Amino acid sequence: MKATIIAVGTELLMGKTVNTNSTYLSKELNDLGIDVLYHKVVGDNPKRLEELLLQSMKETDLIITTGGLGPTQDDLTKEVIGKAFGKTLHMNEGVLQDLKAFFKKIDREMTDNNVRQAYFPESARIIPNDKGTAPGFILENENNICISLPGPPREMKAMYQAEIKNILNSYSQDTIVSQYVNLFGIGESSAEDMVKDLISEQSDPSIAIYAGNGVISFRLTTKAKSEDEGYEIIKPIKDEMAKRFGQLVFSYDSTDFVKVFVENLIKKSLTISTAESCTGGLIAKMITDVSGASSIFERGYITYSNAAKADELNVSEETLKKYGAVSEETALEMVEGLYNKTKSNICISVTGIAGPNGGSKEKPVGLVYVGYAVDGDFKVKKLNLTGDRERIRRLTAFSSLDLIRKRM
Ligand code: AMP
Ligand code: MG
Repeated sequence: MKATIIAVGTELLMGKTVNTNSTYLSKELNDLGIDVLYHKVVGDNPKRLEELLLQSMKETDLIITTGGLGPTQDDLTKEVIGKAFGKTLHMNEGVLQDLKAFFKKIDREMTDNNVRQAYFPESARIIPNDKGTAPGFILENENNICISLPGPPREMKAMYQAEIKNILNSYSQDTIVSQYVNLFGIGESSAEDMVKDLISEQSDPSIAIYAGNGVISFRLTTKAKSEDEGYEIIKPIKDEMAKRFGQLVFSYDSTDFVKVFVENLIKKSLTISTAESCTGGLIAKMITDVSGASSIFERGYITYSNAAKADELNVSEETLKKYGAVSEETALEMVEGLYNKTKSNICISVTGIAGPNGGSKEKPVGLVYVGYAVDGDFKVKKLNLTGDRERIRRLTAFSSLDLIRKRM
């Protein structure tokens, strides 16, 4: 199946709203093995929407629109789609009752505009909207399927997950099976280079590469009669990638590096504590963002000043004076102090220069020392990071977890 996604709304063309709906739907359709050929954006203009729709109906069998289903006068998607399919609008009694009940519940007057929301093209299948007032709908003829969803992302996503996904799935006989090979600690181009022969020789499974948040993901996708058969098709390529990337692989399903890290600690019942300077608590935040972290996260210190490093972690004044706060020696004493206090299985300390100020020739911006210990076995790693303050801090946090991951 080939698809066009049409985002309707003048606010999108004005640059006031980012078109996240198309991105979201594209990812979802991809997961179902539906090829998205076009993203199109059009303002709340019935004539142009109609032209675009008629053109898209020639180009692709599936069309999904978002937006223009609201109660206001400029929301004209229903009329236009109905017209393109040769259908007039009729009031749907069920939707009208739902709308009345909704307005009663929120104790607001229902206007004539709201009544317009109960009108749908004849023979349309209504898609209920639990999170808002504008239901969606599906229209079909022998050549095209048109799915029309409201603009607010929260409503659109909920409707997609509750109904549309299953409907689209039922159009395809085959099951789409995907597996990931997720890497941390390598750049996108280097990763691609290591498997470029596989990518160019391979058509089934298809291989797609994604990068974000320091994670490089290869997604291997195939169509098969069953899930098991799909995994069989994927396995040789997955195994070959696993062999080539070795320790860089952190998971074969979730692309969330921190979540995988924390869940691993939970599974192994390993406690963790942090002592952070330049990251200001970011590592502790990342860990505790994961639900269930309370069973492994013991404590986090933010020892930003020299006094805090001395008071909380017992870093000696002599070390601070002789080598400075950003030094291998200080990072080591920080992590030793942390371990002595907490006896956590895993201890991490970081000290560095996040910039943009505070760098020098000897200690440039991006210089970071990470102290890390597994059961009291201490090591320090020097990092030379680049980028702005935010990036340096984020990379420091990710890298410190990755150092531990590779020792576990
Ligand atoms: P609607 O009333 O259905 O046209 O949509 C109303 C609201 O949904 C707009 O004010 C936007 O905030 C949001 N919206 C519409 N289209 C999109 C889109 N393509 N991506 C993200 N948000 C959107
Ligand atoms: Mg709109």
